[in-house]
Amino acid sequence: MRHPILGHIDWAERAYPIVRVLPDRLKAWLAERLAALLKSRTRSSAHPERVTLFLTDRCNLRCRHCFVSAPNRPETVEASAPELTSGHWEQFFQRSAGRISQLLITGGEPTLRPDLPEILRLAVQVGRVATINLFSNGLAPQKLKRALDQLLDGPAVSLNFQVSIDGPEAFHDANRGVAGSHAQARATLELLLDLRSRHPGRINRVVACTAISRRNLELLPETIALVQRLGALHAFTFVRSSERGVFNLSDQALLSGFSPPDFGDFLGREDMDKALALVDERLWRQAPNNLFYATNRVILSGIAQSLRQGRPVAAPCLSGVGDIIILPDGGVARCEMLRPFGALPEHGMDLERLLQSEAAREHFRRTSSCWCVHDCAVGLSIMYHPKLLRELFSRSKARAQAPGA
Ligand code: SF4
Ligand code: SF4
Repeated sequence: MRHPILGHIDWAERAYPIVRVLPDRLKAWLAERLAALLKSRTRSSAHPERVTLFLTDRCNLRCRHCFVSAPNRPETVEASAPELTSGHWEQFFQRSAGRISQLLITGGEPTLRPDLPEILRLAVQVGRVATINLFSNGLAPQKLKRALDQLLDGPAVSLNFQVSIDGPEAFHDANRGVAGSHAQARATLELLLDLRSRHPGRINRVVACTAISRRNLELLPETIALVQRLGALHAFTFVRSSERGVFNLSDQALLSGFSPPDFGDFLGREDMDKALALVDERLWRQAPNNLFYATNRVILSGIAQSLRQGRPVAAPCLSGVGDIIILPDGGVARCEMLRPFGALPEHGMDLERLLQSEAAREHFRRTSSCWCVHDCAVGLSIMYHPKLLRELFSRSKARAQAPGA
């Protein structure tokens, strides 16, 4: 089952420049219709179409802004919490076959799993997943290549990659705690761009992602120029935290505790406006017909505005319905900001069965009124809220405001 937008991203990318120049009234009508269609389709489905697998909490880097792993994050299997095996994942893909249009694979660092090639194969051959997005810190280009060789020779699946680049080399290496990590990330991006040119139609997007903090804000122009020289797309996030970014939750004990160790990194509202203005001037404004950049613009400007106004970017949140998180041990959470409400192994690795359990229903009741500035949730909301779709279709630039506005 392919998602009407996510499953046809190539088509959506081609249509975007045409939609942008339609008359405003037609764009508003289109936004209403599309949002209603997608919302009703998602609500009537018993299985989220987008699933994020955190394959491992282990990581070979030590990023200051990491909100996923603890500061003493383990690198070895022996030192880490139990992880689901590829046997578990096979069972999972059997149960969800044909029902996931977008699979996001992340961690920790997913290439630390020696069975990553097997898990990818299972996703495609057993789960019939249409699109895989793989997130990596890029420290091990050859391991990634081995994982992809088999996949690129197999049945058709659309692939997207995201590799982190925090800034110029000296900053990146210091921020990630490992000398040489910038050179490896660049090598990974070059390898992926080369693979894309040799496998046309198989690899869709190769993205460098920069998490913006107070420490690299001033380095943004240099970072943007660096990624442009490499030839990758460039995505941005604001450094985030479950403790700082979730509001109106009935019980704070439901928070996941995913937070970076150093809160000094967080951008204030004025910093966010400055970051938006910089990225807009150097990148987004240069490529107004690029749907990927337009989506990133709507997400980040929505977050900045939401914090300024003290209200959600869009409500209700469809995390847990349109997409869902599976943790390394099989715990299932609505989003990275909240604790898991159940464990897949206890439900025969059947996500639909778990979602129908009383524990799941109770959890959704208890989290029905929260809102947050988590960029994945805002990105998901774009599909379901006409206001955000109108913003996506607009020809406006980022809503950067003068500091203090
Ligand atoms: S690479 Fe990712 S998971 Fe690893 S420490 Fe950095 S932010 Fe955390
Ligand atoms: S608003 Fe959605 S994404 Fe944010 S914490 Fe609540 S359930 Fe999670």
